[in-house]
Amino acid sequence: MDCLFCSIINGEIPSKKVYEDDKVYAFYDISPQAPVHFLVIPKEHIASANDLTEENAAVVAHIFAVIAKITKDLGIADGGYRVVNNCGENGQQTVKHLHFHVLGGRSMQWPPG
Ligand code: 5GP
Ligand code: ZN
Repeated sequence: MDCLFCSIINGEIPSKKVYEDDKVYAFYDISPQAPVHFLVIPKEHIASANDLTEENAAVVAHIFAVIAKITKDLGIADGGYRVVNNCGENGQQTVKHLHFHVLGGRSMQWPPG
């Protein structure tokens, strides 16, 4: 399957790794929108939040546990951060492999655009 993030997971496309285990991979966004901006993705190809089911959604709970660990390690947990999932056309999702943006190191604005 031709998927950018699957190619990053298997190393065909280089990335700056933040964290990895058997279920997930985390790496810095190529176009950071905050002092700290990384993405956490499941190793299993799931196209978007629309494709989550009772059978495959456990990885999302794991992703949030991993985010809690990484943000502590990077020193942004206490200050707080934002986790974002863009889904589909209206959500402005550009890469069709489920991913969670983690943005920190500055104060965010609300509402998002
Ligand atoms: P989306 O808009 O789909 O929610 O987010 C996709 C994100 O992937 C964007 O923030 C974009 O900067 C990032 N991205 C796209 N291509 C690459 C790449 O080749 N390497 C890395 N590290 N990030 C990428
Ligand atoms: Zn993929």
